[in-house]
Amino acid sequence: MHADRTENRRSPDELWAGLVREMAAMPDVVANLLREHQPDDHGFCRGNGCGTAGRGVPTRRWPCSLHALAAAAADAVVRGGPAGGTVRSQQDR
Ligand SMILES: [Zn+2]
Repeated sequence: MHADRTENRRSPDELWAGLVREMAAMPDVVANLLREHQPDDHGFCRGNGCGTAGRGVPTRRWPCSLHALAAAAADAVVRGGPAGGTVRSQQDR
């Protein structure tokens, strides 16, 4: 493996992985997201901010990005535990 890791230029995949790691450390948040972001009868997300609840365009297809993130975090927890052994502090934000 020869990954060139520069902290200032992270690919979307790395950013996503970082989000997943952070989410994996917050099981309560993950559980809430998974519970809220569920499809309605038409296949649209009912989550706050995704669907018809209040604002936003009621055409967000499920699974939305928030549900995908929460699901990925839950999967990470299942596979590697909450910390995953690779949690790093966010230094550049
Ligand atoms: Zn959603």
